[in-house]
Amino acid sequence: MKKISFIIPMYYEEEVATECYHRVKNVCTSLDNYEHEIIFINDGSKDKTLSILEDIANSDKNVKVISFSRNFGHQCAVTAGLKYVTGDAIIIIDADLQDPPELVPEMLKLWEAGNDVIYGKRKVRDGESKFKLFTAKMFYKTLNALSDVEIPKDTGDFRLVDRTVVDVINSLPEHNKFLRGLFSWVGFQQTPFEYERKERFAGKTKYPLKKMLKLASDGIISFSTKPLKIVGALGIISVFISLCILIYTILSFIFKWNNLTAGWTSMMITMTFLSGIILISLWMIGEYIARIYDEVKGRPQYIIQKKINIE
Ligand code: UDP
Ligand code: MG
Repeated sequence: MKKISFIIPMYYEEEVATECYHRVKNVCTSLDNYEHEIIFINDGSKDKTLSILEDIANSDKNVKVISFSRNFGHQCAVTAGLKYVTGDAIIIIDADLQDPPELVPEMLKLWEAGNDVIYGKRKVRDGESKFKLFTAKMFYKTLNALSDVEIPKDTGDFRLVDRTVVDVINSLPEHNKFLRGLFSWVGFQQTPFEYERKERFAGKTKYPLKKMLKLASDGIISFSTKPLKIVGALGIISVFISLCILIYTILSFIFKWNNLTAGWTSMMITMTFLSGIILISLWMIGEYIARIYDEVKGRPQYIIQKKINIE
């Protein structure tokens, strides 16, 4: 019998944990041709999330729990889930029920039809602020303009993935995994699945602006070297501009076009412009070096403090 696995990361989700379990469990029991497992990852929440999950896991052997020693972030939580998952079809879903688990049977049909990655594509996004929608849109725009792989728009981490793809992802040595990029990068038979994104069942978003910016810069930097090239282009342009100014200054000196003590302004502009570009370049390069440094240190992506129902 084929097995389906759910991966559900949780960070301060005590208000939704129980409801989430029931909704997912209902879907699993309705699919009687499949075995199932549900893996919850507690991403270092300090509220009642873990104890709720422990109770659930003690009463249901199909529920597995991984608990981190601290908050390592959503991407790491999902990465850990991918490592411990044992099913043939793997579903990554948020805990807050914004992505309805009831859609999974439909997605399974697409999987049975031979697709390897069925990614949820958001048609409508209920209950999300204009600001969030705008930043999300800008994020996908810049990412696609900069990166070398096509990363589908309006796609989060909600998706159903075949075992073979998960094995490939698990075998990648990189640490800073930007999963939605990688899932698209690996290829295989990909197909979108349109759905309406609901409002959060309860609680507030665990993705404040700071975490979104981190995700965005991880996405851009791990999928593109274009920022470095842009830096090069800016450098060439600014050198060209300063050359023009230099030629102009010499000419105006020879032909006495105007009094050069007035040149203070142009000096200042050139100076600030150039130092601006240099600083931006250093920052860009620094971002890459920081990522390289992270990879080279080879520290684990996450630390597991506790496992339940997992050998
Ligand atoms: N999450 C996590 N670690 C974090 C932040 C979020 O595991 O550091 C989980 C969170 O519990 C939820 C999912 O990631 O299951 C998506 O987070 P959220 O719904 O807050 O993000 P949004 O839908 O607002 O983008
Ligand atoms: Mg959410």
